[in-house]
Amino acid sequence: MVNLEDTIAAIATAPGEGGIGIIRVSGGEAKKIVDNLFVSPKGKKVIHMVPYQMLYGYIVDKTDGAMVDEVLVAFMQRPHSFTGEDVVEIHSHGGMVVLQKILGLVLKEGARLAEPGEFTKRAFINGRIDLSQAEAVIDLIRAQTDAAAKVAANQLQGKLKQHIMEIRQQLLQVLAYLEAEIDFPDEDIEHLTGIQLANRLTQIRERLNDLLARSRQGKILREGIRVVIAGKPNVGKSSLLNALLRDRRAIVTDIPGTTRDVIEEVLNLGGVPVRLVDTAGIRETKDLVEQLGVEKSKEWLEKADVVLFVINSATGFNIEDAEIARLLSSRHQVLLIINKQDLKPEYKGEDLPEELQHWPRVYTSLLQEEDTRKVEQALLDLIWQGKVVPSQELFLSNQRHISALEKAAGQLESALAAYQAGMPADYLSIDIRGAWETLGEISGETVGEDLLDLIFSQFCIGK
Ligand code: GDP
Ligand code: ZN
Repeated sequence: MVNLEDTIAAIATAPGEGGIGIIRVSGGEAKKIVDNLFVSPKGKKVIHMVPYQMLYGYIVDKTDGAMVDEVLVAFMQRPHSFTGEDVVEIHSHGGMVVLQKILGLVLKEGARLAEPGEFTKRAFINGRIDLSQAEAVIDLIRAQTDAAAKVAANQLQGKLKQHIMEIRQQLLQVLAYLEAEIDFPDEDIEHLTGIQLANRLTQIRERLNDLLARSRQGKILREGIRVVIAGKPNVGKSSLLNALLRDRRAIVTDIPGTTRDVIEEVLNLGGVPVRLVDTAGIRETKDLVEQLGVEKSKEWLEKADVVLFVINSATGFNIEDAEIARLLSSRHQVLLIINKQDLKPEYKGEDLPEELQHWPRVYTSLLQEEDTRKVEQALLDLIWQGKVVPSQELFLSNQRHISALEKAAGQLESALAAYQAGMPADYLSIDIRGAWETLGEISGETVGEDLLDLIFSQFCIGK
């Protein structure tokens, strides 16, 4: 384990050339260390760094007296700094050689190179932020769309933290009543009736469920959804792909780990990063199914969140369509695109098997541009399922948090079941305490060192 008493330093700006670069120093010695290297324009050693003022001057290498760079230095006094410790930032010119040189001098003066995420970890340990906020820092840095950045910024502001604190407090109150019940069953103190207890637990569980509903949306905004277009040859899949990409392609990424012939195109659909699965050939001529064979397309369908299943009005639903439908499981959300309506407008999918009739559907003629909008709208409806929460109320997208919420909701569920089965108070309190602890994992109050290390190791150095 790293020593949190050390004064640490790292280059905080991204590697590469930049107009400026920042070296961040944090800890008890931060001020002294930078003082030792800093010289004012008049050649004076600085005696007194005033908090929150930028000082202009030079960093000088004491061994030969040479000026290393012209800099601005900012001092953030503890506890009102990011880490909660004294922090000094040296803003130098942005070349890597200069930055490395200054960092070297800082280390020579007694600072230690920061571990990845150590600044943020210190902020957490010093109570400046909770764990959900620390994680929001990573999410914010990695955000790929405005919407995802907004979710992370809300979380960084402590909105999730606030909810978790309140819910844990409510659980503690219930626990206190239960303890009183267990310890002093006959005393004349306030007891919750069974109904009141059940009501409170139900309320708390509802609150957790509400958070979970929002989290689904947050996760979608952060990670996007993967959409695969399926259908037999010649139904209009390529036309659909091209139409969707035509004016919406925002980002083109090569997702590591995918084979070379398959890439994902990311388009920004109403703020949602939609990862459209594409193959090298899909846009030229051929279809996912026909080109890759059943096994390959099955693989892709496995990874799909939503499948756009295109059928042809002119041919109706035939055995080939049924073949593809067979590859879809109940896990998939399917949007049925009944295309080529211009050829047979009276076709409304009546020959679809009974069990597929519930799929949401759009009738299109993809030769018409408006119909692409219909697909986009239907896709968004499917993604949000009619419940779009205003973005300022979204602060939850991290899978770790979602899992903890799900677990806590399950624990409350089982406490309620125990109550309904007439189990004694001490039995219920096990699950309720469990839920309280589980929620503490989100804020970081009840997590072990291992998990902390794991979380902070995802950061890069300087964060
Ligand atoms: P894919 O094999 O499923 O990818 O189908 P394509 O997108 O390559 O389309 C096959 C043919 O159908 C092309 O000639 C398209 O122009 C045409 N097509 C696509 N959508 C429609 C439509 O809604 N109506 C009509 N009449 N033709 C369409
Ligand atoms: Zn095609």
